[in-house]
Amino acid sequence: MTATIPPTESSAAPQTTERHRKLAIIGSGPAGLTAALYAARANLEPIVFAGNVPLGQLMITSDVENYPGFPQGIQGPELMQLFRDQAARFGTTIIDRDVTRVDFGQRPFRLWVGDEEHSADAVIVATGASALWLGLESEERLRGRGVSACATCDGFFFRDREIAVVGGGDTALEEALFLTRFASKVTILVRRDQFRGSKIMQERAFAHPKIEVQWNKSVTEIQGEQTVEALRLTDTESGEVTTLPAQGLFVAIGYKPNTDLFVGQLELDDRGYLRVVDETGSGIDGVFVAGDVHDHRYRQAVTAAGDGCKAAIDAERWLESVGEVELATATNW
Ligand SMILES: Cc1cc2nc3c(=O)[nH]c(=O)nc-3n(C[C@H](O)[C@H](O)[C@H](O)COP(=O)(O)OP(=O)(O)OC[C@H]3O[C@@H](n4cnc5c(N)ncnc54)[C@H](O)[C@@H]3O)c2cc1C
Repeated sequence: MTATIPPTESSAAPQTTERHRKLAIIGSGPAGLTAALYAARANLEPIVFAGNVPLGQLMITSDVENYPGFPQGIQGPELMQLFRDQAARFGTTIIDRDVTRVDFGQRPFRLWVGDEEHSADAVIVATGASALWLGLESEERLRGRGVSACATCDGFFFRDREIAVVGGGDTALEEALFLTRFASKVTILVRRDQFRGSKIMQERAFAHPKIEVQWNKSVTEIQGEQTVEALRLTDTESGEVTTLPAQGLFVAIGYKPNTDLFVGQLELDDRGYLRVVDETGSGIDGVFVAGDVHDHRYRQAVTAAGDGCKAAIDAERWLESVGEVELATATNW
């Protein structure tokens, strides 16, 4: 079910101005910038609120080898700069600041960047998600150099290596099982004395000859200068400190969708992800959703980009249907 918000009187087909746009996009990862590219090429003159930490999760990784079109692979930050350049080439306005408040209760929709108010006839929400990390200095230093939060993305780099996975839920079990395709040994480090993950995943992990489980273990330091060499573990019960040789560490303690801004405005599921209806709908006509902010299943740059494309096409068609976009401007995508 979608809610239809009546336009306010002053909103009858307002023109694009510095503070009013046909389309505003919140977030500048693969989803937001792909939406911007499509929208800009459809003459929607979109504005992207890119965030205080722009360009998304790929900014914290090194090699990206599974984004199509780059047979030799590409560095995450370089790929995201290309996304940004391509969106800008067609006239997207990009502001590197966080949207701090939204009001989707009336049209045009209102967005604030601090005290600065903006409005838009349609909005695409693409604020992504943030991987949760352990919070160690050594983890930050070695991120992308043996420390990762994405087995699908980085598992391939760990062929015949010994690696560890931190976490006790289904994600950790899934990541560990996936990593057995590459690694010679996978040690799952669990803070408690049992898994939280499903029985079936646990059984698969216990049965796998490459997987070993260490209970009551907390990683207190990642050792290595240029790459990961070993992990310092502290037993959460006895306090005993041990060292585990490992060339990789996958942190699988969860993701936090960036949805605080939308509490009370859009529908969230019990994990805090945005709910979508009909592919990209948010439940409010004119507000669309793309990427990891709703997708906890695939979590890939290419799926986020595909989502951004779909959201832009849906936004353009919706604007056209409510008369905000002249039929003549409807574009060849
Ligand atoms: C370590 C790591 C390695 C990865 N490697 C790969 C890989 O090799 N291949 C692959 O396909 N995928 C990889 N991924 C996954 C991929 O990065 C994500 O699936 C993808 O970036 C999701 O895109 P997105 O646009 O939905 O969101 P994000 O990339 O999360 O971008 C969202 C953006 O929105 C901004 N934002 C949030 N709140 C606001 C706000 N209030 N106002 C304005 N802006 C806001 C954020 O700051 C961020 O810049 C990796 C992820 C991680 C963590």
